[in-house]
Amino acid sequence: MFSDDIISRVRDSVDIVDFISGYVALKKTGKNHTGLCPFHAEKTPSFSVNPDKQIFHCFGCGAGGDVFKFVELQEGLNFPEAVRKFAERSGIALPADSRSRGEDKKNVEERMALLKAVAEAAAYYQKELEGPAGSTARAYLAKRGVSDVTIKSFRLGYSRPEWDGLLKHLKQKGYTPAQLEKAGLVVKRSEGEGHYDRFRGRIMFPIVDIAGNIIAFGGRVMDDSLPKYLNSSETPLYSKSNTLYCLDAAKDAGRKQGYFIIVEGYLDALACHQYGVRNAVATLGTALTEGHLRLMRRFADKLVLIFDPDPAGVKASLRGFDLFVASGMKVNVVSLPDNDDPDTFLQKHGQEAFAARLRQSMKFMDFVLAQVVPEGHAASIDEKVEKAQEMLGFIARLSSGIERDYYLKRTAEALDLDETVLRQEMPKQAKHPGPAAGATTQAPSRGHRPRAEEILVHLMLKDETIARNLQSQIKPQDFTDPLFRRMVQRIFDVLAATGSLDSRALMQDGDEELNGLLSHYAVLEMEYDDPEKHCQDCVEIIKQQDPEKQMKLLSKALEEARVRGDRAEFIRLAKEHQELSRRPGRRIPGR
Ligand SMILES: [Zn+2]
Repeated sequence: MFSDDIISRVRDSVDIVDFISGYVALKKTGKNHTGLCPFHAEKTPSFSVNPDKQIFHCFGCGAGGDVFKFVELQEGLNFPEAVRKFAERSGIALPADSRSRGEDKKNVEERMALLKAVAEAAAYYQKELEGPAGSTARAYLAKRGVSDVTIKSFRLGYSRPEWDGLLKHLKQKGYTPAQLEKAGLVVKRSEGEGHYDRFRGRIMFPIVDIAGNIIAFGGRVMDDSLPKYLNSSETPLYSKSNTLYCLDAAKDAGRKQGYFIIVEGYLDALACHQYGVRNAVATLGTALTEGHLRLMRRFADKLVLIFDPDPAGVKASLRGFDLFVASGMKVNVVSLPDNDDPDTFLQKHGQEAFAARLRQSMKFMDFVLAQVVPEGHAASIDEKVEKAQEMLGFIARLSSGIERDYYLKRTAEALDLDETVLRQEMPKQAKHPGPAAGATTQAPSRGHRPRAEEILVHLMLKDETIARNLQSQIKPQDFTDPLFRRMVQRIFDVLAATGSLDSRALMQDGDEELNGLLSHYAVLEMEYDDPEKHCQDCVEIIKQQDPEKQMKLLSKALEEARVRGDRAEFIRLAKEHQELSRRPGRRIPGR
């Protein structure tokens, strides 16, 4: 990890209001600047940036943090990537040894070298497409309806049908064949010495990662030769099950519209973008994986699959069932008529017709039902039994009881069977793979938090002096709410370590829930008329909170100390017990 010192220097080099203004139209309101949240759809602004604390927070979706957090959410970067981004922007040199954990210096250097080699290759292929050798490829792309703008912005290229064009070019630039092999650009000869170009005589589609680096290529032939598509091999930079074509270009639109469209090929994805359907991504010669879903879930929680209505396509879609249920993402499916794929459909009918199709998309489970039990199907009793069993297999795997109930009814209707009978037939060992960890990013609800604890935490964060004075009066363990207990612990730790309460120092730890609360308070405009008095009231309330519960805990600890034979601890606890039993009952909070 980076040292705290470096992190602060990098963070201080940017102004959060300046930076966020590049993404959100901000208006000054009171101490804060407010605007429409870029992380959820809203019509009235609930997104605030506080210039004094250099913190943002959204009261709508709960997103919040410092400028690093903003760029992490906005661009899908992780923390070290965010630090590097700002360091580069501000020209701050990062010490070579302060990279992220598990990434030693050698690995980082190797990765950088591979990225550079792949970028050089992309530039080479791009030039080839523009030059005389690329005329056939240009004609082919024109025939397929790919515009010059698309070719430029997606950096398409061309590889000549030669064995060593790229190899020679990059060797001249100082790369070794071994490096190029590792980058997936050249292949070692199976017999004898030497290497040759992996991609020959193909249109080249650079594959870009989420941070905007080209990491691999897909190559497509222009005739009927095979394989039609060839992708880079798996490299230290590229893994096909964790990469989606066009995600970098689609992530903003995906977030704004709340969903991604999944198509199958490079040209389908490019056609979508060219026709203004900017939330389209494509898998790279593989079915959707958990890794793909995890990537997309950083930006949206819904997918629309364009499925091929032939039997193989349907089967492929159904295979994704468990994956979709486990991911907790909402999945809809849509089919296109006349064997069209998105590319041909858009060229024939345009964007409006495509949007209309998307509006007709159906929930994945409805699609399953329609496939298993086609409408108006007059089945024999044997068929009914078979289809009912198949449907029950799907229904049993749904995570929501309401959904299971609903589809049970629908299946009974569709097969004209008795619902009760069907219900009894439901597999007993139903497994309900609940939503995967991290699937929900909802802001923690704070309505039920003990009010006095909340006020006290808020006061401590507002006023350092209050926090300092409270150190001797209250302990984190006095707080019943685990979140506030962690917060108070953090406040005291930071005070002890730095002597002050910089809200950014407070946030330096991966505790998302805590950071959400910190950013919430940082932009909360709320004044107390007599903070000192308020503070003392809260302390009293907290100290008297739930004496029964405290007594119980104490008795238990006492017993444990006795069994352990820990005399000193026993005496200490006994005293506390005595004190507690003398206290008056709970008081009603006063303001
Ligand atoms: Zn929001």
